[in-house]
Amino acid sequence: APTPLPALILGAGAAGLMCAAHAGPGAVVIDHMDRPGEKIRISGGGRCNFTNMYAGPQNFLSANPHFAKSALSRYTQWDFVYLMGRHGVTWHEKTLGQLFCDEKSERVIRLLLDEVAAAQAEVWLKTEVREIRHADGRFVVDLIRDGQPLTVTTRALVVASGGKSIPKIGATGLGYRIAEQFGHALTDTRPGLVPLTFGDSFSDLAGVACPARLSCNGTSFDEALLFTHRGLSGPAILQISNFWHEGEDVSVRLCPDLDFLSSLKEERQRAGRRDLETVLAGLLPKRLAAQVVRDSGLKGRLADLSDAALAPLLDRLTDWHLRPTGTEGYRKAEVTLGGVDTAGLSSRSMESRSVPGLHFIGEVVDVTGWLGGYNFQWAWSSGWAAGTAIAAR
Ligand code: FAD
Repeated sequence: APTPLPALILGAGAAGLMCAAHAGPGAVVIDHMDRPGEKIRISGGGRCNFTNMYAGPQNFLSANPHFAKSALSRYTQWDFVYLMGRHGVTWHEKTLGQLFCDEKSERVIRLLLDEVAAAQAEVWLKTEVREIRHADGRFVVDLIRDGQPLTVTTRALVVASGGKSIPKIGATGLGYRIAEQFGHALTDTRPGLVPLTFGDSFSDLAGVACPARLSCNGTSFDEALLFTHRGLSGPAILQISNFWHEGEDVSVRLCPDLDFLSSLKEERQRAGRRDLETVLAGLLPKRLAAQVVRDSGLKGRLADLSDAALAPLLDRLTDWHLRPTGTEGYRKAEVTLGGVDTAGLSSRSMESRSVPGLHFIGEVVDVTGWLGGYNFQWAWSSGWAAGTAIAAR
């Protein structure tokens, strides 16, 4: 029988490559695609938002909010920043602690492949998983590599096959199937960091962007809101989509840094003859101002509108309740919420509590970050945690 591999890692994405770079010489990371790290390539608008300066457990969603703490604190954003420096890859902060590559995202993939090669691990592309058996503490895995059947054995099997989003670039349900095969519970999965749909309610506003505070289920984000033909998008919506469930409302406060009542009062003093809609168009994008005024049922000169009369308008500007009809789904979602239940895993090594040698890392696990580099940080931290645990065995 062939010598068992020290580790077989399923999925050459962010988490799998990071794990391969630490699992020790001879580790193999496979992927069914013909290129590794496709999501890294398309991430961050092509510049990979590879981490966040402020990343901490508070930026992640999971049925167990404590689970991510161990890995995040042992391999931090600064460890990845140091790795970038070691490879001479430069970066910049865009906003809110979000660190982006100065060069294209491919540079991060190259860095990871260099790390994998330096660790004497291998990447096998165009390789699919047919069947996994488990006996005598070993995993026997039937693969199809470049069209040819191949069986390998390993003591450490790492599932790094990612979530369900963007099937076009490689997402499959492999990780969830393996979890079920080995008796691991899954928490409900749904699209995350995804535009929300509202029928055609906003088609007149398509293309309008405005700063906003979005709130849902006790969480708020101040970021840009974008109106589209299908509904709402932009960073504020992607963020709040992680906290929204079907049937719930989202509350919108437009321009959260602006005191609308004071601004309108000042304008009334200064130029009360001006029309309400014209005045509001000085504070909001023009089309949005027109829509808000229409919705409030008010019209006419500002001078003719008392503070009390402005109340419905102020309500609409500061606490606009919207009920999404749904999300744009996995086709547009940046991540999958939910996944392999962390209750069955060690937070230190990502190893299964019931099947020694089986690990789950990255997005397939029920740990999901906010928008802003947090999801890659989870991939790096969990990949490192599993890789170093395997190497130390
Ligand atoms: P992935 O990176 O998805 O890797 C999984 C790998 O497994 C893939 O290579 C896939 O081909 C392979 N695979 C799947 N099924 C099989 C199978 N059956 N057999 C063999 N191989 C298989 N996060 C950020 O932090 N910052 C960003 O800027 C950012 N931008 C994003 C932009 C977009 C458009 C999208 C979709 C996501 C973005 N994300 C971003 C999220 C981030 O890409 C993911 O959270 C991260 O890639 C998850 O890492 P992973 O290794 O777990 O999974």
